[in-house]
Amino acid sequence: MPFRSLDSRTDRRGSLRLLRLLLAVSVALPLVLFAGIGWRERWEAQEEAEQSGRKNALILHEHMLKVFDTMAQALDRVDERIHGRGWREIAESDTLHRYLRTLEGELEQIGAIGLIDPDGTMRNSSLTFPVESTYIGDRADFHEQRERDAGLAVAGPIADPVTGKPSFGIGRRRSGPGGPDGDFDGVINATVDPEYFSSFYRKVIGSEGESITLFRDDGRMLMRYPPLGWEMPDPLPADRGLRAEIRKQPDEGVFRTDNSGIQGLSRVFAYKRVGDFPVYVVYGLDQRQVTQAWLRNMALDAAFVAPATLALALIAWLAYGRAVSEDSAVRRWAEEVRNRERLEEALRQSQKMEALGQLTGGVAHDFNNLLTAALANMHLLGRHLPPEGQRFLAGANTALERAEKLTRQLLSFSRQEAVNLSVVDLGDSLRRMGDLLERSVRADIALDWDIAPVPMAVAVDPVQLEMAVLNLVLNARDAMAGGGRIRIAAALGPEPRTARIAVSDTGAGMPPEVMERAFDPFFTTKGVGKGTGLGLSMVYGFARQSGGNATIDSRPGAGTRVCIDLPLTEARPIPAVPATVEPVMERRPLRILVVEDNALVLMATVEGLTEDGFIVETAEHGVAALDLLEADQDFDLVVSDVVMPHGVSGIDLARRIRERWPALRVLLASGYSPESLASMGADTASVLAKPFTPDQLAARIRALAGPGEGPDKTGSA
Ligand code: ADP
Ligand code: MG
Repeated sequence: MPFRSLDSRTDRRGSLRLLRLLLAVSVALPLVLFAGIGWRERWEAQEEAEQSGRKNALILHEHMLKVFDTMAQALDRVDERIHGRGWREIAESDTLHRYLRTLEGELEQIGAIGLIDPDGTMRNSSLTFPVESTYIGDRADFHEQRERDAGLAVAGPIADPVTGKPSFGIGRRRSGPGGPDGDFDGVINATVDPEYFSSFYRKVIGSEGESITLFRDDGRMLMRYPPLGWEMPDPLPADRGLRAEIRKQPDEGVFRTDNSGIQGLSRVFAYKRVGDFPVYVVYGLDQRQVTQAWLRNMALDAAFVAPATLALALIAWLAYGRAVSEDSAVRRWAEEVRNRERLEEALRQSQKMEALGQLTGGVAHDFNNLLTAALANMHLLGRHLPPEGQRFLAGANTALERAEKLTRQLLSFSRQEAVNLSVVDLGDSLRRMGDLLERSVRADIALDWDIAPVPMAVAVDPVQLEMAVLNLVLNARDAMAGGGRIRIAAALGPEPRTARIAVSDTGAGMPPEVMERAFDPFFTTKGVGKGTGLGLSMVYGFARQSGGNATIDSRPGAGTRVCIDLPLTEARPIPAVPATVEPVMERRPLRILVVEDNALVLMATVEGLTEDGFIVETAEHGVAALDLLEADQDFDLVVSDVVMPHGVSGIDLARRIRERWPALRVLLASGYSPESLASMGADTASVLAKPFTPDQLAARIRALAGPGEGPDKTGSA
């Protein structure tokens, strides 16, 4: 088969799968890449934020260091200036005040300079003169300096003496007689100018999310930019955040807080300790800032990636769609090819059946003629044979009857058998067969009946129906060597307006190659002399002839079911009545014209009829018969064969007689079915199925030509 190669279905399915994969990959890959890039950029953004935090912290640290340095120098200068002076002199010196003010004015970092005596009272300052009496003896840094020389000590947070804003200061011991190493002689103190820091920090900080804070190592905030809107907050807790980090890395570091830091924001912090001072500069960046920058980047990336991905996916999708439609076209095509193959196969099968039918029909026809002659002769012989010879005659008759059955089956398959259609109820007919079927199976086989209790009127030849069912039961019996069950079912068929007879068995079943040929005439798997191969072919012929169909369903080891589907008819079933023998009321012997080209048949027929008391004339073919009738029409009936030489068949003859002598009845003796005869134009004649016995012929003639003559009810459909 050239088309079998079409079924590279796995190939097609494989390439479709590949395309689907491609489609998925074309979408998934860019997404995965994008996600990867996103992740990496996020990481980089974080890294960058921390890096710049570190940098900023470094800058702030340098700046702070310078501020402290400057302030330390200023304090040193003041210390020099007041070297050797007593506190009273200091307090009264306007010059000193002006000096301090000039110094403070020169150094923008410094907000105020104050001189505090050992008791903690401010004695002179850069702010006012004379100084307003201010006591700082309670400040921690003062205490510290009084205890020992603490070098430069950070004070704060304290309120800026001018503005009151949060600020801080640094101070040192006054040197002199008390000196750094001698007795304590007061403190020189300077506070930073918050404005100076603000203006510087403003320049460092670019965006909104940034902040700069100065902390003491005890967690107290010295200064913050941008300034917090409230009072100085509580000291930072020691166990987390900045102080925890500082414990780990005292010099510098970077860390993050998650919604727990100042203002409840997630932030990145970079810190650095300012020299040896217990002061830390902390640069903070709102994490949202980082995230937003990252998102902006990603959006930019997406603007490039998305169209490319879409284009890729679109291409893959188009390719896939195309492949799918091609695939379905190929599938449709393959389906069509398969359908065509099936049809061709069915056609081949029916042609084979047709040819076989014609062949068997032809053989059976000739055979029929011979049988008819033989039967007639046997019949005649019987009348002349002494009783002791009757036994042999009976044997011969039995053989002839078998032969007759055989030709019947053959003709039935070839659908040329004369059928006597009548409308019967399927259920009734089957039920009537009960006895016959029970007798035909062995004792180890059980017959189950399942006949639906509904009317099922079908138009069939009852004799053939019986034969068909019998054949099926016999086949079932043969298939169950070890016994089993046969089920005979009848019900409305699966198709509308049909009835189905199903004969199933629990027998050996058939392999596919047997099932395929089981309906063939002469196909048998049974041994020589056991099977004829005509049983199922008869069943098939019967079903087809009755306008139905026969099917087999079987598997080796699983039994067989043969179904005969028959069309239902609207007509009412004719109740089966025993054939009544019509009373013979002969006024005079009936005069019959027998037309028959087969000399054997002719002779036997004439002999039989004459013996039965008919007056018989003969003609060897249709033309002769017509000639004869021209001269003499005084016949009660014309009995004619159908197939005859010289161009005038039995059917032609019947038609001409009908035209010329309408009163004259014609009986056609034929192996053809009335339908096939009708289709040949013999709708006006009665038909007698061949082969027949002389008795059957005589009965038919009397029925047709007798005094009670009327339309023939039994002969034709
Ligand atoms: P025959 O019975 O003379 O062999 P059939 O036409 O009745 O001829 O059957 C043809 C073949 O089909 C049988 O030889 C048998 O192989 C097979 N067959 C028919 N009916 C059955 C059945 N019920 N179970 C198994 N095989 C069957
Ligand atoms: Mg059989």
